[in-house]
Amino acid sequence: MRQSIVAGNWKMNGASSFVQEMAQQINLHAADLDNVEVVLSPPSVYVAMLQQSAKSYATAAQNVHFAKSGAYTGEVSVTMLQDVGCKYVLIGHSERREIFAESNQLIAKKVAAAMQGGVVPILCVGESLLQRNAGQEFEVVKSQVLSALQGLQFSADSLVIAYEPIWAIGTGETASPEQAQQMHAHIRKVLAVEISAELAEQTRILYGGSVNAQTAALLFSQPDIDGGLVGGASLKVEDFKLICSAAAK
Ligand code: PEP
Repeated sequence: MRQSIVAGNWKMNGASSFVQEMAQQINLHAADLDNVEVVLSPPSVYVAMLQQSAKSYATAAQNVHFAKSGAYTGEVSVTMLQDVGCKYVLIGHSERREIFAESNQLIAKKVAAAMQGGVVPILCVGESLLQRNAGQEFEVVKSQVLSALQGLQFSADSLVIAYEPIWAIGTGETASPEQAQQMHAHIRKVLAVEISAELAEQTRILYGGSVNAQTAALLFSQPDIDGGLVGGASLKVEDFKLICSAAAK
């Protein structure tokens, strides 16, 4: 059975007082959850601090550079994330694709660097509303997944995929459990056909897009949904705890 993951993406929110509060509350809450890995993804400046307090959760960075070191002002390397004990890194989030113009090619380089450096990429994929309305959502997501993984050798515990339809991120509009399940099954089939059936069966695929304490349980009960990537609701401690509980099996 695949272990669920609930990952909270704080985006550019939080402060050291919030880091301390979340660490304390989630250490207590996550310790009692059955078969759920809780992941907290703060802004990079807080990753080490949050990781130092971690007992029952893991941390994820929100971005990484593909180079090991060098003249890349403002960037953080995989080696640095590893050095502070960070287990995961979000790669290809739609906000990075849109606001920072990250291409599929750049995302592929970041995924390869993360895997090579021993930090697990949480590869974010998802279509825009325009693409969905044009009936292109399955093709778009397939090409995002395949371009990011092209030429890589890896095992299922070295990758997490997050399906995040852009029209559902931060909008309050969640994909229906049926829509999400359909896309998750599609992603799993793409992995099975293009890589291997075993890897497809074992890879965790998270849903993201306005998940909240009310919608989480039904989404997470779908057979191909292995938890969630949660933005806004991860900043509300009590709501986030309910979402984590909803992923317990
Ligand atoms: C996200 O940023 O990954 C996300 C899913 O945000 P929200 O839950 O706020 O839609």
